[in-house]
Amino acid sequence: MQKHDKISAMQEAARALRQAGRPIAFVPTMGALHAGHASLIRLAREKADAVVVSAFVNPLQFGPSEDLARYPRSPSSDALLCEKENAEVLFTPTVEEMFPKGFSTHLLEEAVSKPLCGVVRPVLFRGVLTCWLKLFNIVRPDVVVMGEKDAQQVAVLRKAAADLLLPIEIVTGPVVRDADGLAISARNSYLTPSQREEALAVFVALRKAKEMVDSGVKSADRLVAEVTHMIAAKRRLRVIYISVVDRNTMEQLREISPGQCLLAISYWVDEVRLTDNMTL
Ligand code: AMP
Repeated sequence: MQKHDKISAMQEAARALRQAGRPIAFVPTMGALHAGHASLIRLAREKADAVVVSAFVNPLQFGPSEDLARYPRSPSSDALLCEKENAEVLFTPTVEEMFPKGFSTHLLEEAVSKPLCGVVRPVLFRGVLTCWLKLFNIVRPDVVVMGEKDAQQVAVLRKAAADLLLPIEIVTGPVVRDADGLAISARNSYLTPSQREEALAVFVALRKAKEMVDSGVKSADRLVAEVTHMIAAKRRLRVIYISVVDRNTMEQLREISPGQCLLAISYWVDEVRLTDNMTL
């Protein structure tokens, strides 16, 4: 596996892959790689001949009071995981090269990025899209592979890609969960055992909502009320938002249309913010 941290070296590696007629599937990440990322690398391998993974903690997507400094970083185990999953290239650019002093151009999507996380984290999607666009310009992938764990990110990218005719195919993989049901996230490493225990109530509540839909419930309000009630029993949990939304527009829905919507939730476990969702 090749490992590059210089933009010019990554561009050269991508150029060589293209010249060899090898389509590129790209998996952008913030590192601290786990089984969720590994599943995306495997999916990427099914979609294209060469897989490029980036691991870059993107400072543009963190607000001033967020966890940029303490976000988990594990460069050596990231490289091992990419190697094990047969990635062709691991790209780990520096902040200095990605966003040098004076960087002043941003990509803003102004509809899909507004609700849910957009309300509570105003710089998130502008930061994510700007970073991704720069990474895409460096790697020039044919396919971009993303996780449905971050359903709003996927929807925002799909909208931006359609609006701007980005020459990429976007492919998504399902949420990967630990055996107990908790959606795997780099931020889970912040949780103590008792916090983790309480966070599990969110998965149990989402699963209950799915069961309600499967048994014929159509009212979004009823689902939200049930999930809110189940989570309220947990002392450490505070809901930031919980909403039934259209999976493409992220607009709130009153009535469930199966397959088309998801129940999206963001919540605090004490001071740790997590997100999850369930396709209904
Ligand atoms: P991150 O490193 O958190 O920025 O995530 C990089 C990519 O991995 C994004 O497309 C995420 O949606 C995806 N991802 C993160 N956690 C999971 C998970 N548990 N299951 C599936 N995909 C995930």
